Amino acid sequence: MEVELSAPNGKRWTQPLGLFINNEFVKSSNGQTITSVNPATEEEICSVFAATEEDVDKAVAAARKAFKHPSWKSLSGTERGALMVKLADLVAQHAETLATIECLDNGKPYSVALSENVPEVINVLKYYAGYADKNFGQVIDVGPAKFAYTVKEPLGVCGQIIPWNYPLDMAAWKLGPALCCGNTVVLKLAEQTPLSVLYMAKLIKEAGFPPGVVNIINGHGPEAGAALVQHPNVDKIAFTGSTATGKQIMKMASGTMKNITLETGGKSPLLIFEDADLDLAATWSHTGIMSNQGQICTATSRILVHEKVCDAFVEKFKAKVKDISILGDPFEESTFQGPQVTKAQYERVLGYIRSGKEEGATIMLGGEAAPHKGKGFFIQPTVFTDVKPTMKIFQEEIFGPCVAIAAFKTEEEAIELANNTAYGLGAALFTRDLTRAHRVAREIEAGMVWINSSNDSDFRIPFGGVKQSGIGRELGEAGLAPYCNIKAIHVNMTA
Ligand code: ADP
Repeated sequence: MEVELSAPNGKRWTQPLGLFINNEFVKSSNGQTITSVNPATEEEICSVFAATEEDVDKAVAAARKAFKHPSWKSLSGTERGALMVKLADLVAQHAETLATIECLDNGKPYSVALSENVPEVINVLKYYAGYADKNFGQVIDVGPAKFAYTVKEPLGVCGQIIPWNYPLDMAAWKLGPALCCGNTVVLKLAEQTPLSVLYMAKLIKEAGFPPGVVNIINGHGPEAGAALVQHPNVDKIAFTGSTATGKQIMKMASGTMKNITLETGGKSPLLIFEDADLDLAATWSHTGIMSNQGQICTATSRILVHEKVCDAFVEKFKAKVKDISILGDPFEESTFQGPQVTKAQYERVLGYIRSGKEEGATIMLGGEAAPHKGKGFFIQPTVFTDVKPTMKIFQEEIFGPCVAIAAFKTEEEAIELANNTAYGLGAALFTRDLTRAHRVAREIEAGMVWINSSNDSDFRIPFGGVKQSGIGRELGEAGLAPYCNIKAIHVNMTA
């Protein structure tokens, strides 16, 4: 049920391969597995058990039992918070191993996994641990004839489905608020990147969470994911992934009218007005699209620039990309950009780049595959200019290191272009004009707006989208609401 693994940075660890149900690693009911591949070398890492419908049923039963069990149900918020802090401390102790696994399985640079992703897990767990004994109801004064109050109750068993672009972070975003509120969880990992969170499962047991409180399963979306979404004993589904899958989940969840939270795709705009600090804009434009190999749901993948400063911006942006986007072995300290996560994603991104060329956009930079030592799913950071709003590369989410730049003439046109999309996740804008900044921020149809920055996410601030980018919010205090019921209690005080 486990295998000894090592990585090019010399780290060695014992990798669990089972489904984590009831605090034990178990095989799948029919023995089926999914093989994890290192996207930088295309070599197989190991094969991990993949849940069948029967296994999902077992995991849900474990979570249901744990939800009612006194070892979890009778804990105070303070005690739940203490368990979460213990887990955060264990994650900190195992930071290098977790970052190594993330790098190997996902392809993101080790330095990023260690300095950003693992700390995010710790921050989110501690943040929600702090809320565990500070998230309570109200007394509502309706006069002497009635005493009325509310209590916040956990929902029950939460099914949580996460994607492959930030495996550790996404697990923490889901587990943090769910456990804080006293729920139990069945977390389904993305089949492309299960290894880091399975390793974290060991730490969950070590931290002392009672059996069945957190169950973690690998599995295919249409099999294990769909079984979880349709399961009658699951009270909530929280999903992060593509808009297409989010729509399917909404349909499937309607059968049992589940409480759902969805965080889906985006085609976030970044607006640069004529008075903007172009150096600042170039720096953040680069961060906003080229980080994490461009595999970011909030990636600012459409850059809209005032025509007067467009050429000057493009020159500065090109220089930034050339300077910072160093491709290579993700275990190398100097590497900024690793491979795309899988061959399928690599081919998908290259397909979009081809479509941009065919539809007549200008390639300013990149545009080709870039294997490292002849291997791996690497793609050159790619910059298109002269992009028309009708082009596929302007409309559709590419999820790769590829950005579309278009020019605008007026503020009205910029807002119209920015909102000309089915998505509404993030938006960034650059200007030195304070009133314009806030005026435009209000006009943009998005869940998050960054003024003079981009993709500046923070665990204390609500995250989520409007339109086809999602339903509900994660992170911040707002992230608690999707994980508890408010029960109103009316007490008749008259004789
Ligand atoms: P991508 O296409 O980038 O892999 P998805 O949205 O399909 O993104 O995947 C995100 C998560 O949703 C993964 O954990 C995946 O297994 C899961 N998933 C995919 N299809 C379904 C489905 N039909 N029902 C439930 N979960 C699914």
